[in-house]
Amino acid sequence: MNKEDIIYFAKRIYNQGLSPATSGNISCISDDNNILITASGSAACDLTFDDIVQINFNGEVIEGCKKPSSEKNMHIKIYEKRPDIKAIIHSHSPEITAFAVSGLEINEVIMPEFAFYFGSIPISNYYLPSTVELAEDVANLFKNKNAVLMKNHGIVVGGCNLKEAFYSLESIQAYCKTYLNAKLLGKIKTLNKKQIKEIDNLKH
Ligand code: 13P
Ligand code: ZN
Repeated sequence: MNKEDIIYFAKRIYNQGLSPATSGNISCISDDNNILITASGSAACDLTFDDIVQINFNGEVIEGCKKPSSEKNMHIKIYEKRPDIKAIIHSHSPEITAFAVSGLEINEVIMPEFAFYFGSIPISNYYLPSTVELAEDVANLFKNKNAVLMKNHGIVVGGCNLKEAFYSLESIQAYCKTYLNAKLLGKIKTLNKKQIKEIDNLKH
């Protein structure tokens, strides 16, 4: 993956309302096994080649003039914990962040597709953005999950490439929008144990 791939998905992320203004950040493993990451303060909608810097696993800039994302430690720690993950998107999508500010895990089984691909999405504790404590808590929750809510903050998703991470983010946003709209209608019917078991069986 390269800078062009990050710019392509940044635009899609912005167009889907997943990354307002300068919130969030995107990274991927580069062809030479370093990390390409968006610059701190960059906006997904206006991202250019200059807004992407290359860093090593110590967080040092090896190419580019701008300061890397303030959440670089979180990206690095997730890559270290999960070598199968090659792309990470952190987003403040308003619908997803509504769950994060309510302190709610995403765990109600309301749609088969979501249950099949995600099961549930855990939530980290609240820590000041950009801190090592936040990075460690989120990375620990990535042990067996590809998406983690950050309390009072947003979400982080990982994937084997940027496309997979983007689709995950889009699916989680769809879940949250559907859930919130169903709440407005007044009723949410979750799937029962038998229905959930049938979905689990599809995995085998
Ligand atoms: P950066 O602009 O430094 O990447 O920070 C954005 C953000 O969402 C911090 O949590
Ligand atoms: Zn953030």
